[in-house]
Amino acid sequence: MLLAMRTRVVVLGAGFGGLELTTALSEALGDKIDIVLIDKNDAFVFGFSKLDVMFGRHLPSEVRHPYSQILKPGVRFFQTTVRSIDPASKIVVTDAQTFEADYLVVALGADYDIAATPGLAEGGNEFYSPAGAFALRDVLAEFRSGHAVIGVTGKSFKCPPAPSETALMLHDFLQSRGLRDATQITLVMPFGVPIPPSPETSQALLAAFAERGIRFVKDNLVASLDPARKVAVLSGGEEIPYDLFLGIPVHRVPQVVVESGLSADPFAWVPVNKQTLETSFPGVYAVGDVNGVGTPKAGIFAEGSAAVVAKRILADLTGSPAPDEYGGKGACYIEFGDEKVARVDVTFLHGPPVGSYQAPSEAMAAEKSLFGSSRIQRWFLS
Ligand SMILES: Cc1cc2nc3c(=O)[nH]c(=O)nc-3n(C[C@H](O)[C@H](O)[C@H](O)COP(=O)(O)OP(=O)(O)OC[C@H]3O[C@@H](n4cnc5c(N)ncnc54)[C@H](O)[C@@H]3O)c2cc1C
Repeated sequence: MLLAMRTRVVVLGAGFGGLELTTALSEALGDKIDIVLIDKNDAFVFGFSKLDVMFGRHLPSEVRHPYSQILKPGVRFFQTTVRSIDPASKIVVTDAQTFEADYLVVALGADYDIAATPGLAEGGNEFYSPAGAFALRDVLAEFRSGHAVIGVTGKSFKCPPAPSETALMLHDFLQSRGLRDATQITLVMPFGVPIPPSPETSQALLAAFAERGIRFVKDNLVASLDPARKVAVLSGGEEIPYDLFLGIPVHRVPQVVVESGLSADPFAWVPVNKQTLETSFPGVYAVGDVNGVGTPKAGIFAEGSAAVVAKRILADLTGSPAPDEYGGKGACYIEFGDEKVARVDVTFLHGPPVGSYQAPSEAMAAEKSLFGSSRIQRWFLS
């Protein structure tokens, strides 16, 4: 066992990936190891909670999980912004102090480039950041008539089912307020079907859109908005008039990661060994949305990749058996409206992606709720 000196693991980002990694290491080694967890925010918010707040199911305060509540042996949380990363020396500079690591895990997620879509900031709304989604709660409460357009603006985006869920939840929201006849809903997506790896899921979503009068525009991005004319201009040239625009912004690699050299440019997700999640720098790993391993940008995949990295670090430190290779498996829950949730399971890294589908039910809604509460229990409480 190489634990005579306390090994220093520095984890950048306390999202799905960082929280799972920290928990797994603390569970195995407790205070025999020094785990530093860094995030610029003071609380964790699930991606799906953004939709819950936006559509009035929860208050913002109900979906924030403060990091100050993390009480885990061996773990120190710092709320501070990472300013530079040197992967060769494993030194990280933050606003608070400089950290040196024996193992460095980059789990900084994906950032948004709102300015990459002309007109979005002035004439539309984004619902992918907590601030954007929370602000939409009031905007949606005021929306009484006209055309709501939900539009994806870049090809690589988090949680591929989220735009479809938003369309179905918006339908329910307007219906319950007696406003559906006075409104239209259009969804613009860059794929031919809503969930390409699972034809069954796509078929079910397309049928749900047709039943509810939601227009699905395939194979297009929203390239820009013209706020003066209130039109969304699509990559294929079509112009769609809108009264309310709900956008999925262009995603990019966080600037601090680009500057570290771990990624070649803002749209090149960090290259890693597909089996181990290690970058080209020994002892430096990239987990979750920030890496380019080829799985969708979703919490469940971030969690799965973090579990593999935790096992690798443990194997290195304790001589425990070699860890499983990362298989790129994950399940996503899909809000179908009517308080029902479906589930799609997809495997990505062994041949072409394949998915299986479970139809919407209230039982699956309960399973999703347990998925969230069990993570909070595991990540925050010792
Ligand atoms: C609307 C919506 C719905 C979603 N629904 C689902 C779902 O149902 N299921 C699912 O699995 N996934 C879902 N997702 C996707 C999921 O939220 C992400 O894929 C997941 O959070 C990625 O985890 P991560 O650890 O890679 O990054 P993140 O969870 O994004 O964590 C990155 C962390 O790094 C921090 N950070 C970034 N830069 C710095 C810096 N310079 N200094 C310090 N800290 C920094 C951030 O504050 C953040 O906390 C959804 C996303 C959205 C937007």
